[in-house]
Amino acid sequence: MSTSTHTAAEPHAAQDLPRIPHWIDGAPVAPESTDFGEVIDPSRGVVTAQVIFADATVVDLAVRSARQALGGWRDLSLSRRIPILQRFRQLLVEHTGELAALIASQHGKMVDDAAGEIQRGLEVVELACAAPTLLKGEYSDQVANGVDTYSLRQPVGVCVGITPFNFPAMVPLWMFPIALACGNTFVLKPSERDPGASLLLAQLASEAGLPPGVLNVVQGDKTAVAALLDHPGVSAVSFVGSTPVARYIYERSAATGKRVQALGGAKNHLVVLPDADIQQAADAAVSAAFGSAGQRCMAVSIAVAVGGIGDQLAAAIADRVAKLRVGPASDPTSQMGPVITADARDRVEQYVGRGESAGAELVADGRGLSIPGHERGNFVGPTVVDRVRPGMDVYDEEVFGPLLGIVRAETLDDALHLIGDNPYGNGAAIFTRSGGASRRFVRRLGRFAVRRHARVRTRELPLLHPQQGRHLPLAR
Ligand code: NAD
Repeated sequence: MSTSTHTAAEPHAAQDLPRIPHWIDGAPVAPESTDFGEVIDPSRGVVTAQVIFADATVVDLAVRSARQALGGWRDLSLSRRIPILQRFRQLLVEHTGELAALIASQHGKMVDDAAGEIQRGLEVVELACAAPTLLKGEYSDQVANGVDTYSLRQPVGVCVGITPFNFPAMVPLWMFPIALACGNTFVLKPSERDPGASLLLAQLASEAGLPPGVLNVVQGDKTAVAALLDHPGVSAVSFVGSTPVARYIYERSAATGKRVQALGGAKNHLVVLPDADIQQAADAAVSAAFGSAGQRCMAVSIAVAVGGIGDQLAAAIADRVAKLRVGPASDPTSQMGPVITADARDRVEQYVGRGESAGAELVADGRGLSIPGHERGNFVGPTVVDRVRPGMDVYDEEVFGPLLGIVRAETLDDALHLIGDNPYGNGAAIFTRSGGASRRFVRRLGRFAVRRHARVRTRELPLLHPQQGRHLPLAR
């Protein structure tokens, strides 16, 4: 049995727990396996299911199924491929409630937040339905004497998606609908922490008429990932997750000649200039820092107060944080839920402690939070730490939890340098009434992003991927 770092508070007899299977060749597959992980409801700290982990044999089965399905799927006309995706879209709409409830029970985010991620995924399915237009080729007449050229877009082959826990439906939906619309087949390896959504997505795709083998799901951990990366039948890999794993995926996939894109972690800054509406900026900071308990790749983790407005901004943020209702995903009045695991809760709390020891000032302390009736849930309250500086772990590293740091900067240029020097990316925002300042912000950050890429390559820092090119390449 695999070792799990999850703390299951209420022991359940293993034989009573449902087992989450793989989905291979159009059907659930549940081999007799001793290797599995525990799926925990983070609001209750209770093990609710076991997820079967794939080994190299199961991975091989899934990749072979995808390869076998490739010829028929690739050659199916767009006029027959696309209606399947349209039916899949309709089924997603009809099953949004069920899918959202499932995500909330395994991830801990609020049900309406989970429904929001399905909506974002639906938008990608809609884009995939436009494949007949997106896949158009080009024709150039008379490029040389008597020579015309044309380009056409063709599928890459079997594509693999390795996805994180924080968007168990949306991130897979970034990937496979586009890959399938372009005539590729797919093997998805979702996060082992909340694997239920991936299985439901595969079932709905099958119900929509997707032929067996076109979309497969293998559950598992790094063993399954390694088998996928090394498999000669896999042509392309798309990854979303933390930076160290992104780097590993990128290197290992490239070493075996696969196309690969790997999106890593984030540290998103929100800059507030003295001319801004501070109340509006505080609303945005609190919503972006604590939505989904800060476990979003676009969560704001650092607010930069420019030019002496630090006290005012900290007070406005503290006011709002004090009113946030933290509670279980099942309670519709909750505004913020738990973090994914007890380990994640402890990690966030340690960052707070280390920040304080390094000289940061606590504005709101969410450590040690206990929710009545849910004492075993992985709760950490919204936490705000002021006077954070580069060089502190809480500033330099991705925390990925409900922790907002406030940094004070004298000028817009200081704020820009701060963002440019941080090794992470993803997004940045500015609050100001000045069109000139916001234009400068956009133009300078673009240049920093280019320079940062160069630095990452030369200094061997963790890979950095801005939020771009989210989908698999359309086609070769
Ligand atoms: P993670 O890196 O731990 O896991 C992501 C996937 O990789 C999972 O499927 C997991 O099973 C697998 N994995 C984990 N460790 C592995 C290893 N050692 N070898 C091989 N595979 C491994 O990430 P997570 O905790 O699930 O998700 C949160 C992270 O994802 C955060 O860092 C967040 O910023 C990032 N994220 C980034 C984006 C983006 O667009 N850039 C979007 C969402 C999440």
